[in-house]
Amino acid sequence: MNEAASSPVRAEIDWWASGKRAGRLRVPLSRNDSGWGTVAIPAVVIANGTGPTMLFTAGNHGDEYEGQVALLRLAQTLDPAQVAGRVIILPAMHFPAARAGTRLSPLDGKDFNRCFPGNPRGSFAEVLAHYVDTHLLPMCDAQMDLHSGGTGMEMVPSAVGHVIDDAGYMERSLAMADAFNAPITLLLEEVNAGPTLLAAAERRGVVALSSELGGAGRLSREALAITEAGVRNVLRHLGILEGKPVTGAHGRSRRMTVPDLAHYVFAPADGIWEAADPLGASVRAGAVAGRLHAIEEPLRPAEVLTYGAEGLLWCTRAPGRCREGDPVAVVARDMP
Ligand SMILES: [Zn+2]
Repeated sequence: MNEAASSPVRAEIDWWASGKRAGRLRVPLSRNDSGWGTVAIPAVVIANGTGPTMLFTAGNHGDEYEGQVALLRLAQTLDPAQVAGRVIILPAMHFPAARAGTRLSPLDGKDFNRCFPGNPRGSFAEVLAHYVDTHLLPMCDAQMDLHSGGTGMEMVPSAVGHVIDDAGYMERSLAMADAFNAPITLLLEEVNAGPTLLAAAERRGVVALSSELGGAGRLSREALAITEAGVRNVLRHLGILEGKPVTGAHGRSRRMTVPDLAHYVFAPADGIWEAADPLGASVRAGAVAGRLHAIEEPLRPAEVLTYGAEGLLWCTRAPGRCREGDPVAVVARDMP
């Protein structure tokens, strides 16, 4: 049995025929009241003629909304007659989390983006991750997994890629990020990348990007507009749609990185976070990042936290309350 044949997920959609159609990925989920129960994950294919295959996914984390809505709009408005190749769209890939509006799975508590390459005999999220890795990625030339800051964080809208050794691959993913044309393209040198979909795509040689497009648990109109323009730009870049990518009012995407942990500010204790600067501000090392208030000791002054590096305030904590160890600010700097 090969790795692809061992998945219990069934695709109720024809991935290959021309035209536009919606279908389902049917994932088994045994419950107390339904031993043979399944969860149906929406999928859309838009195909015509010959050309590359692009896979767009959102709802990897259920509380990140810009990608989900941009992909619904793309699925509804993309005319197969204008397409040369194939576009596969999973607007709510980790469907149980997307429907619940939660980052983690309400079924097994898993972070779907820490489940790759998955396991066909594992929990729901692991079975689904294995299917995406072994069935969907091998069909694709390029892939983009649309994330936002979710409930906990808010980011300056950005495409996100990894710094990897293969220079040719790196060039192709940067070209796709330039086409996506978010205000920032953030290249991460080191994250907990191994179990993510982005890393799974990289392992398979599929040109891939992730993104961080807003957050704070809401749907940002500005970030949604950037995402909608970005996904069409990526299709133009790949030659699936005619024409050249269109540059937005913010101009070319600014290439930045978060080189090390000195660029993070972590809460040293539980408390209420009062940020000193708005998202996107220029900040200096040693400047006040914000104050951490402790309700347990009313007369104790708030703890002042400072930035460890200069750059652009790329990410901030969204909810007021934070716990010890939470990042409350992340600073990005321009790529050398
Ligand atoms: Zn995410």
